[in-house]
Amino acid sequence: MVSRGKIKRKARVIDYYYKQGGKCAYCKIGMTLSLGFQNTATIDHIIPKAHKRIKGVFNEVAACQKCNNITELYALGLYR
Ligand SMILES: [Zn+2]
Repeated sequence: MVSRGKIKRKARVIDYYYKQGGKCAYCKIGMTLSLGFQNTATIDHIIPKAHKRIKGVFNEVAACQKCNNITELYALGLYR
């Protein structure tokens, strides 16, 4: 079962995916919209969640699964 939120999120991924010509915002690898691959297109927030207090500064890009994981780890490492 897929929740409404997930469908919305997926639609945004597709939007960014086409805007970026199907390429990852970070490593420029050709991404896929199929799930479960290293190059699966995901939404990445340029501003880490810890910076949420900066209102109005909010940007999203499509990044491959691999880069999304790396940026998440990086953000966590910064605030530990
Ligand atoms: Zn990437």
